[in-house]
Amino acid sequence: MLPKKHDYELVIIGGGLSGLSAAVAAEQAGLAPLVLEKGHTLGGDGNYVEGALGVDSYLQQKEGIKIDRLKLLHEELQYSHYEANAAHLNKFINNSGATIDWLHDLGVKFAKVGAQGDSWPTIHSFAGGGHAAIQTLLKQVKKSEVVTEAKAARLLYQDGRVTGLTVADEATGQEQDVTAKNVILATGGYVDNPALVKQHQSFDDRLMAVSDGKSTGDGMQLAWEVGADHYRMGAIQYGGGAIYDRQLPPFMHMASQLAAAATQEAILWVNERGERFVNEDVNDNMCHAGNAILTQAKVYSILDQGTVDHLAKVGLYKELGNTPFSPAKLEKLPEEIENDLGHHAKYLTKGETLAELAAKLHLPALEETVASYNQLAAGGEDPVFGKAKQYLTALTTGPFYAVELGVGMACALGGLKVDTNNRVLNAHGFPIPGLFSIGNDAAGMLVGDTYAVTLPGSTAGYAAFSARNAVSTIAKN
Ligand SMILES: Cc1cc2nc3c(=O)[nH]c(=O)nc-3n(C[C@H](O)[C@H](O)[C@H](O)COP(=O)(O)OP(=O)(O)OC[C@H]3O[C@@H](n4cnc5c(N)ncnc54)[C@H](O)[C@@H]3O)c2cc1C
Repeated sequence: MLPKKHDYELVIIGGGLSGLSAAVAAEQAGLAPLVLEKGHTLGGDGNYVEGALGVDSYLQQKEGIKIDRLKLLHEELQYSHYEANAAHLNKFINNSGATIDWLHDLGVKFAKVGAQGDSWPTIHSFAGGGHAAIQTLLKQVKKSEVVTEAKAARLLYQDGRVTGLTVADEATGQEQDVTAKNVILATGGYVDNPALVKQHQSFDDRLMAVSDGKSTGDGMQLAWEVGADHYRMGAIQYGGGAIYDRQLPPFMHMASQLAAAATQEAILWVNERGERFVNEDVNDNMCHAGNAILTQAKVYSILDQGTVDHLAKVGLYKELGNTPFSPAKLEKLPEEIENDLGHHAKYLTKGETLAELAAKLHLPALEETVASYNQLAAGGEDPVFGKAKQYLTALTTGPFYAVELGVGMACALGGLKVDTNNRVLNAHGFPIPGLFSIGNDAAGMLVGDTYAVTLPGSTAGYAAFSARNAVSTIAKN
């Protein structure tokens, strides 16, 4: 579809969490923007979000949660090796609580606030998930013109400023030029663009996007064409280990109990030689788990029948991370294993004995590794990698199973540099007049080479914060 008019005060490219937040903020500031969304539906990856970061929100005050902002800032800067932009991160943290309050005042409902693993207690979980939050935002979008199946194809640039853009109808290919005083890029980052992901230093075939498929890096490419700085490609938000399926797309395994057992129960992980290589409870931090998996050529999660029976009938060894709905047991696990074996799934291998499993997968050290691991389990201590003792469970009862692991990616940040008002900067470090960037497109400013799981909810919180930040600058001018 194409816009109704040819001239707008403000155009927002992307109808996801940040774009819709910007539309609402703009309406509150008296503007009636044009919102362009290239997909059929609105909300982008915002539909899948669990929660958003806030510091000193109404809910934290109610729960008596106090956070030392400067300590948090310094810890995050250390975590990113000072690759995060201190001024930008500081402004975000200082305004994040007010951003949660703003969403709450709009009607967005939060179920709880707290930590993930040993993180800061910053994540405000949306009641009903991200989809419910998006629907609430949409109800507040009243004066904006929202056009779906409308892709921003090129920015118009004249006399040193962005003056509008060319919109392409995704159905017909027809194009229309639109002038605008200000353009906000809110296109969700580049996780669905394999060529751009390849520019990330850790690129590996086992990296698999688990997203809506529309985050193809359009914002940064549009901005680069008009002189934006090619800022370093920042962190990819690894979702921890994932089943490495070469046939079905990764989201097909999102609700899989085999995936939960293999990636989140911290049992035994071995590499291409069958050697143990890390404390498997690294999965407390999904990005660290992703990094650790990528240090090896191949990774298999090893289960025995005793483990499968325990998880299915007795209960979990470890609460499932990053999900508010951790089940008490993995009751479907035996059935899933049977089904996958029946379909000859390449990621799952069974051996009646360890020797058979090792032979099938060419894992020369596997038998010795399991024997040593069982000794650690018997002693209740892991002096090798220091895994917590409650996750040391012996593997003794055949048959044995190996699940090959890759790494899921939820979003990719970086590529653009913005100032503390979310104005896009050129290679000289100065704003390109008329051009703003928000959400994942700008969130590379907050991270180093590893996404900050230590600050859970930071990308969703930033999507809403940066939207308001850009709009308030536009409204002031
Ligand atoms: C499964 C999953 C779970 C997640 N959970 C969390 C979480 O719990 N907490 C958290 O902080 N973050 C989470 N995230 C990260 C999430 O991506 C962000 O928090 C949030 O969606 C970022 O908002 P955004 O507006 O930048 O991107 P999106 O919400 O993805 O919106 C971008 C929109 O721009 C559109 N678009 C792209 N290019 C164009 C173009 N050329 N023209 C027009 N439209 C275009 C896209 O179609 C899309 O609708 C999760 C991501 C995934 C995939």
